[in-house]
Amino acid sequence: MFDFHMHSRVSFDGHDTGAALAQAAVDRGLKEICFTDHRDFLRKEREQTMLFDLEAYSREYDSLELPGLTIRRGVEYGLYNDNQARMKQELGQRNYDFVLGSIHFVDDMDVYFSEYWQGKTVWEAQRRYFETMLECVRVHEDFDVLSHMTYLHKGAGSPVKAPLPYEEHREIIDEIFRVLISKGKGLELNTSGMDRCGGFLPTPDYFRRFKELGGEIVTIGSDAHRSDRVGQYSEEACQVLREIFGYVCTFAERKPIFHKL
Ligand SMILES: [Zn+2]
Ligand SMILES: [Zn+2]
Repeated sequence: MFDFHMHSRVSFDGHDTGAALAQAAVDRGLKEICFTDHRDFLRKEREQTMLFDLEAYSREYDSLELPGLTIRRGVEYGLYNDNQARMKQELGQRNYDFVLGSIHFVDDMDVYFSEYWQGKTVWEAQRRYFETMLECVRVHEDFDVLSHMTYLHKGAGSPVKAPLPYEEHREIIDEIFRVLISKGKGLELNTSGMDRCGGFLPTPDYFRRFKELGGEIVTIGSDAHRSDRVGQYSEEACQVLREIFGYVCTFAERKPIFHKL
């Protein structure tokens, strides 16, 4: 089993040490993990609050080893329609095994909170979120896998506590998939929605469609911000990918490794 999305105290919103997360992974029987701390660029007054310190990152992970566990070092980048150059420049500062691309902000608002939902119908809020995602995946090259595609409904401010349905936005979602596939990018099955909005982010129907359109790279991540969440629902996630793809991917030095399930 694998977990390719987790945050230690290196992230502004993480709680535990890298060593504690790695130990939790061993205790859960995971074989390979990847740390993916946040680098999200905020505009206005909150700039810098979601950027980890590179020295703290290296101190936390570079000498970390545990028998029986393969540890990879990655990053979760917030994608915006204009931060490609900064991202490229930063990615030149150290080598990562894996880069997740995420949409956390739409029109300068954190979609996690209620401000984003104000003045929009649920459909409009979903639509604007996917439009932003499409714009970002079109202009970005330097990420490996699109993270938690339906994160929108996970947030504290979301009036909807259910998985975001594929059918209602199928055309734009298909377009996002086509762009990802044409660029050789993957799709993450993020398990953190199970407790928060009743399903994986995104749900299995998205993965079936991704495969139908030619998508091949798929990863699993818990998005744990505490050690007790590491590997959560990883077994169930493997089951979903086993049925649809027959494998799951991990990454080393930005290259996918395919593991038969
Ligand atoms: Zn995220
Ligand atoms: Zn995350």
